[in-house]
Amino acid sequence: MTNSNEFVLPKKVEICEVAPRDGFQSIKEWIPTEEKIAIIRKLANTGVKSLEITSFVHPKAIPQLKDAYEVVTAVQDLTDIKMRALVPNVKGAQRAIDAGIKKLKLMLSATDSHSISNANCVTEEAQNGFLPIIELAEKHGVKVGGSISVAFGCPFEGKVPQERLDQIVERYQNMGVHEISLADTTGAGNPKQVYEMLGHLKERFPTILFTMHLHNTRGMALANAIAGLQQGITHFDSSIAGLGGCPYIPNATGNISTEDLVHTLHEMGIETGLNLDALIDVAKEVKAQLGQEGGSYMLQAGPCSQLHAKPKSQQKVES
Ligand code: ZN
Repeated sequence: MTNSNEFVLPKKVEICEVAPRDGFQSIKEWIPTEEKIAIIRKLANTGVKSLEITSFVHPKAIPQLKDAYEVVTAVQDLTDIKMRALVPNVKGAQRAIDAGIKKLKLMLSATDSHSISNANCVTEEAQNGFLPIIELAEKHGVKVGGSISVAFGCPFEGKVPQERLDQIVERYQNMGVHEISLADTTGAGNPKQVYEMLGHLKERFPTILFTMHLHNTRGMALANAIAGLQQGITHFDSSIAGLGGCPYIPNATGNISTEDLVHTLHEMGIETGLNLDALIDVAKEVKAQLGQEGGSYMLQAGPCSQLHAKPKSQQKVES
């Protein structure tokens, strides 16, 4: 018999750790290559199965990730982890494939204004530019996932019309891309919007795997993740210690932190395969090492399963 009061959510969620790309690129001060590799190895010990490891962009665009090739080739022994890299063009894609990457991620912006500041061309042009990358990937048997930045709101244009998102998803589908990450790059989404938009997209594009990439700019990332879960979303990006941001968005703050997301999921009985205690330890180390965090509740308050000793003086006061 089903309990009508049951809050029905997926039983299992796959998390992709994005700190080595989204987190590192938001840090201005150079992180030495060995340090990046050491953090990736620590993350690997938390049970993470999916990692967005870097971005093969032009070194002038994001100097922090100019060592993408070295980083990827140095961790090829971590064969249990699916690694994907962001690629903006064919040249980057070729370098990623040469380094051993088996999954490429394409990124475009939902609005033309964000696309122009991010990719120097409008959305449709950016998307058409993906075709040669997809061909190259096919030739090498490498997977391709798509993403849509500012899908839930753009700092320049505001809310994105549903028809516009539909068009972008449709073009991806026609190009043979069947996994699409919806990114709330500015933390502009709210749970009602997320729930309704995903419901619509899942109905209209039933064969596409939609994943979520949430930033916590306005404290709504966890609530939005729950709204996504309610629509059956089982793949989320998150970043250790909440590192992250967007260089093209004023006052952008970090991604939803991996430890906060995992804590919330585990509290609700949803499996992730990650070890929360190990994640909190790595988050602390990363925060100390890089001198920053994007905002992590776990680093402030710790898990709610961690009980505190009652105060010694605790006794009922007789009046
Ligand atoms: Zn991001």
